[in-house]
Amino acid sequence: MAAPSAPPLGSTTAVATEAAGWLAGLIKINTTNPPGNEDAAAKYVAGVLQKEGIPTEILPVMPGRSAVVGRLQSSVVANPSRALLLVAHMDVVGVDRSKWTVDPFGAVEKNGYLYGRGSLDDKGMLAANMAVMVALKRAGVRLNRDVIFLATDDEEQGGDASIRTLIAKYWEKFAAGFSLNEGGTVFLKDGKVQYVGVQASEKVAMNVAVIAEGISGHASIPTNDNAVVHLAAAIEKIGNYSAPVHYTTIVQRYFEALAPLEPDDVAKWIRSMDSSDRGEHAARVISDANPMWNAMIRDTIVPTMLSAGVRANVIPGEARANLNVRLLPGDTITTLLADLTKLVNDPKVRFELQPDAGLAAPPSSLDSELYATITKATAEEFNGAPVLPIQSAWATDSAQLRLHNVEAYGLWPFPLTDDDLVRVHGNDERIPLASFTKGVDYLARIVGEFAVAK
Ligand SMILES: [Zn+2]
Repeated sequence: MAAPSAPPLGSTTAVATEAAGWLAGLIKINTTNPPGNEDAAAKYVAGVLQKEGIPTEILPVMPGRSAVVGRLQSSVVANPSRALLLVAHMDVVGVDRSKWTVDPFGAVEKNGYLYGRGSLDDKGMLAANMAVMVALKRAGVRLNRDVIFLATDDEEQGGDASIRTLIAKYWEKFAAGFSLNEGGTVFLKDGKVQYVGVQASEKVAMNVAVIAEGISGHASIPTNDNAVVHLAAAIEKIGNYSAPVHYTTIVQRYFEALAPLEPDDVAKWIRSMDSSDRGEHAARVISDANPMWNAMIRDTIVPTMLSAGVRANVIPGEARANLNVRLLPGDTITTLLADLTKLVNDPKVRFELQPDAGLAAPPSSLDSELYATITKATAEEFNGAPVLPIQSAWATDSAQLRLHNVEAYGLWPFPLTDDDLVRVHGNDERIPLASFTKGVDYLARIVGEFAVAK
């Protein structure tokens, strides 16, 4: 590796310290979704950017809910296809206060951590994006492309106020060819960044109802077409089923890059995954070794809800379950449902796809200028650490952007351990302040190298 080049924006430590204050301010604004109430956060964010002289606008979406867009221009005539969009969401998931050791909306600082709901997901990235905008503006650098800031609402529910609506209503205000959003990870272990996962694709979420039908009657005189029994048998088969293995290009590239980082006994199976004689066994070993790997190589079908019956002594005429399905990009629900119908093999049981199914988006390119910039900046920032492309099992706003021809990449620029990551959507969510500072520096390096004119 070549000697690291100087970051285009110089040291960002001072602005990161200010931004940690903005992050604390944002944590204190409760944007639990539902209902979200992102208006207050939007005003706070816009206030910080406007004070720096960055043209910023609040975009109303629904009563109480809005987004924020800001722009640093490269030239008088905008060229959206070159522009870089920095995205983060302002809403957070709910908390179970009884399980927190601190006030989840108190922004408590303790032992080098800032605690609070959203400290990682996603107000951490939101504050880091603000820091980079401010750093660019203060440095007075000439840009070779517009850098656009977008704070979204309603990400966690993906409802009527989400990015879909923003795109439909306001696309021309933030149209871009490239974007950086949440969705990746800077994986820290034993005090060292092992790799950076950059999300370039995601699985497609949808729900399917399984409905068993029988004849209702009094429970004192049973018959053999009880809907509950038919449903239970179907669920047992589905629960034990593994969908066929299918490697997408992103997943192949992920495992290629991962193999050298894994111990030999795991690496040898990763390297055998596409071999004709040992491939099947290798896929089984890999699936068993890590549930995340299992979810990367196949569609997953998970029963999540059951309902049947209204009275203890009445056989119900219908029993239902919900399956939460995550399809690999490229797979279709029609094929999966045909396979499940064959598996269950019961004329009393049928499947119904539920409304609001996710849309499959094309993966972002691993040959783009931005992906190359991330790879270079990662090695420079983290002592030669490699970038691994990620196809996430979770859904993000990036899918909507990819459907609008944006090369969207998921990043969380902060070095985090597994212990930090399990707190996301959980209890005592927190960000190490040193990781926040480092993350701002890393993000500024990526954006600086990509957007500052040389
Ligand atoms: Zn998030």
